[in-house]
Amino acid sequence: MSSGDNAEEIEKLYAAVPRLCDIFCIMQKIGEGTFSSVYLATARLKSGEDMKFALKHLIPTSHPTRIAAELECLTVAGGEDNVMGVKYCFRNNDHVVIVMPYLEHECFVDILHYLSFEEAKEYMFNLFKALRRIHEFGIVHRDVKPSNFLYNRHQKQFALVDFGLAQGTPDTKIEQLKVLQIKKQERLLGYPSQRSVFGEKNFNVHGTVMNKNPTVKAIKQSKIDVESAKLAPKKTIPTKPPSDGVAKKSVRSTLASTPCECFARNQVCFVCLGRSRQVAPRAGTPGFRAPEVLTKCPNQTTAIDMWSAGVIFLSLLSGRYHFFNAPDDMNALAQIMTIRGSKETIQAAKTFGKTITCSKDLPAKNLRTLCESLRNVCSASMQFAEQDELQRMRAELQIKILEKEDGWFDHDTHTASLPGSTHKPESQAESMDIEQSSMNGWDSVPDEAYHMLDRLLDMNPATRITAQEALNHPLFHTV
Ligand code: ADP
Ligand code: MG
Ligand code: ZN
Repeated sequence: MSSGDNAEEIEKLYAAVPRLCDIFCIMQKIGEGTFSSVYLATARLKSGEDMKFALKHLIPTSHPTRIAAELECLTVAGGEDNVMGVKYCFRNNDHVVIVMPYLEHECFVDILHYLSFEEAKEYMFNLFKALRRIHEFGIVHRDVKPSNFLYNRHQKQFALVDFGLAQGTPDTKIEQLKVLQIKKQERLLGYPSQRSVFGEKNFNVHGTVMNKNPTVKAIKQSKIDVESAKLAPKKTIPTKPPSDGVAKKSVRSTLASTPCECFARNQVCFVCLGRSRQVAPRAGTPGFRAPEVLTKCPNQTTAIDMWSAGVIFLSLLSGRYHFFNAPDDMNALAQIMTIRGSKETIQAAKTFGKTITCSKDLPAKNLRTLCESLRNVCSASMQFAEQDELQRMRAELQIKILEKEDGWFDHDTHTASLPGSTHKPESQAESMDIEQSSMNGWDSVPDEAYHMLDRLLDMNPATRITAQEALNHPLFHTV
């Protein structure tokens, strides 16, 4: 790719932070997220050698504390144990550019089918090393996924990047994460917040949309909730508050005792419209979010990163990416249930104070059988049977989450969407390559791997394996 593809943006960046011109030759854009653009640049060293750097230009509207927190994570915890470090930082007015060593890396989905089991194991080992490192510093990354864990297959190099959504544990060693925590508490207590903190803009988008525009929600829901709409006997659901001029407050106070009427209907009932929303951090990508994040549990720990690592391992073992491709949290939870079982989910949710009901009893799947059939190690017919079954289960499932404390529940009592994760070989050549690669240890995956997967995808965050424990797991005794 030539710099011509984004020459204009590169010019703008030089203009925004003029000092960059003196040091760097910006080559091309290599990444673009909601909150940043990342560029590949070179700089001439004193030795006369050219060295490559990654320049992360944060969007100018980022909150200063957020920027400082991201930078502090990189400077304090980074540069060791597969955690990306930082070289310099440039600021001009609102513009901040973080300069990191450049790590050339693969696109996860491109190499997924070519990795040997040993390589997959190595990948996970190195990810755990990075997670142990940041967790020791009291950093919860909250966005662990392949695009944030850079992997150079040939040089066997790894780097965890992107602390843009990170949060601190109560005893975090990162000062700026402490500041963020205080701000969060203030917001929860209802103090006026000045400026939205980046990475948290989407707080409860759901609740807001629903409250302000129930019609939109109802339409959206009826589209995907065909099954329940058919099953539910027609019944009028109050969708508007009584028009007799009752003050909103007094309506709300009677709500606690009024039973909800919207489960398995394609409208949000009046009872639920009046309920207050629980605020909990909901960062990350739905398919990688832990159950306690999906159900908006307010106490989120480093265990949420271990869940995300488990989802990556699930992709490696099954050869499917994205494994969970849900567009939103409730669909993501439904998809998890189809794998981990409904009883298991309900039971685990109790431990973090959430009551979930589910329209169907789904058995937990055997992880080895699931992964082997998806990876096509078993016979093709079994693979398709497995896929059909998953699809059927997801289509029929309805769930709701009930808060113990105040009876509030999430309205998405709707169906789960079809599984993603179906990267099928496009050409015969690719298909043959996959057959070849299936021999790379994939026909003899040890039980330890599935035990590890089971421990990562523990629905209960309190008992889920930690990064340190994972590194000591029998799976890695030969590493
Ligand atoms: P965002 O917050 O926008 O997701 P990231 O920090 O995750 O930003 O960077 C976006 C992408 O840029 C990464 O997925 C990766 O492809 C690339 N990138 C980021 N940092 C580096 C680096 N140090 N070396 C090489 N590529 C990088
Ligand atoms: Mg990222
Ligand atoms: Zn309701």
